[in-house]
Amino acid sequence: MRVSPKRSSPRSSLRRASPRSSPGSSAAEASSPVGDVFVQQVTRITALLEDDMKQSRLETIKMKAAVRRAQKAQAEAEAAKAHLRESLEQFNAVKSEITKCGVCMDTMNRPFVLVECGHSYCYGCLRLHFHTCLRNQVKWRDVPEHLREPSTADQLHELIENEHIYSPLYYCPSCKGTVRCRPIEVYIFKELIEAVHSVAGPPDDLTVEDPHINDSDIWADMFYTKRA
Ligand SMILES: [Zn+2]
Ligand SMILES: [Zn+2]
Repeated sequence: MRVSPKRSSPRSSLRRASPRSSPGSSAAEASSPVGDVFVQQVTRITALLEDDMKQSRLETIKMKAAVRRAQKAQAEAEAAKAHLRESLEQFNAVKSEITKCGVCMDTMNRPFVLVECGHSYCYGCLRLHFHTCLRNQVKWRDVPEHLREPSTADQLHELIENEHIYSPLYYCPSCKGTVRCRPIEVYIFKELIEAVHSVAGPPDDLTVEDPHINDSDIWADMFYTKRA
């Protein structure tokens, strides 16, 4: 449908041309006290809104900066965690080599060093090994029945003093070198192992049967010393 251009009617032209404004027109409102108050209020509200927007922009900038700082801190924490994990893995690899017992292949429990060769083992593992050595030594000898399984200092003394054996023949489980002296407790390993256990957690079973724990000479049943 064709729409013809809108033309002003003669009546509306007359109304615009008339110097007398009709009540309620915008010009009348702007000049009236009510209109002034309205304009003032709008101006005030606009100013308040602008302030609010400015404040919001500032808050947004601050929040973005805070988010960036938090992201950076998180990335740094992640990097530190990864570094710590790597260090712990390296530490575990080193400690497992240093603190590994050559008999039970586990972390040494109460480590003792053989002075002749420097190899270290758990106290319990060494005791078991030395007992086996001594039993094998008397196995084919003509010894009284009660000395076939020597496990006390008295039995060891009887074996030597009655000349069933000259001295016990012990050897290192690793290098097979002869062991003549009492093994010595390695306190530095003990401390290292305790430190490892405090970081990585203790092993499942730390208890070792040790009937000689309170003896003044814990090797008295294995290494001979002439009694006074
Ligand atoms: Zn062991
Ligand atoms: Zn050795």
